[in-house]
Amino acid sequence: MLIRHLSEFDPQCQALRNTIAERRKEAFHWWESLTPPPDSPGIGFQVQKLAIVLDRSVSYVRRRFQAVWILQRLPKLREQFFEHFHLDMGRLATIGSILADIASLEALDEALSKFLTPSRFRAIPSARIIGGFLRRKLAPFHWNPPPNAVRIRQVDELTSQLVVTSTHGGTRLMKDRLRELAHEWQCSEHDALWQALLGKDSKAVVNVYQHKGKLSLVDGSVIPQSMTTLIHQRARIRQLDIEQQGKGYAFPAKLRHIITMRDLHCRFPGCEVPAHACDIDHVLEFNRGGPTEVSNGQLLCRRHHNMKTERQVSCSMTPDGVVTWVIDGIRSVTLPEGEILALAPVPS
Ligand SMILES: [Zn+2]
Repeated sequence: MLIRHLSEFDPQCQALRNTIAERRKEAFHWWESLTPPPDSPGIGFQVQKLAIVLDRSVSYVRRRFQAVWILQRLPKLREQFFEHFHLDMGRLATIGSILADIASLEALDEALSKFLTPSRFRAIPSARIIGGFLRRKLAPFHWNPPPNAVRIRQVDELTSQLVVTSTHGGTRLMKDRLRELAHEWQCSEHDALWQALLGKDSKAVVNVYQHKGKLSLVDGSVIPQSMTTLIHQRARIRQLDIEQQGKGYAFPAKLRHIITMRDLHCRFPGCEVPAHACDIDHVLEFNRGGPTEVSNGQLLCRRHHNMKTERQVSCSMTPDGVVTWVIDGIRSVTLPEGEILALAPVPS
């Protein structure tokens, strides 16, 4: 049976629809049985535990909790859902995550259930379309770009936008000056911005990897070729010695750099708090003989550092940075994600 030969009015098509609705119903009730009330204590920990058990990301689990919670707050949509089971967990999660912080949902409940009313002539909108619909509805109330802000908006895996919000006159002046600089330095406006901020007379510390002649930031973002030459001319090159040992409790800067470039973010399962907001933790505590060296140091965000210090969780690490956690009797392994792993000596 080929799907494209199915007609709306074909009984086989109806049977297929019923099966899909049955699956959605099961999935929803399964998640509903796992989801605690939104105000229950220790919810973050429950999300993390479930993420480990299901081998899913923390945000996957949190979004499904939000899917269950949001239906409790949208009575019209809930009634419609329990009649047709026309929305899967992904669509519900999108609605839940967008509306999680919105206090009054009455008007949106009305609009949303109208927008999602099943019709023979129109497919149920995808999660992306539903997201767009909600954001447009919310836009007049929530589109408030902070004045004088510089933000980064990620476009896709490789590209981001640097968004400067200022008065019209202010951004106009910046753009004009950028054009002048580009003309003066014989480069694109994009490269002129780089040079103006990092290259000419300003000083900045940028930790980069060099791999096969290409430079990238520690999180893997690629640096444009035009900047690579400039960095090579002006940068101080530091060789990293991964076998170096610190004398006291605090990790010296060089060791911190290596651990940061190896771990990139908090090493607790499912946690992605970035390096700059993390502590360096002695995996085996310093006062129990744990050395201050790369093979005994890991990045932990403050929250997970405290959980470890208070012995709610425990962990151990191999010399190449693989950390095994034990959380409520559940074992979970996290691998270092930085490219510096490739520099580590191969254990004999
Ligand atoms: Zn963490």
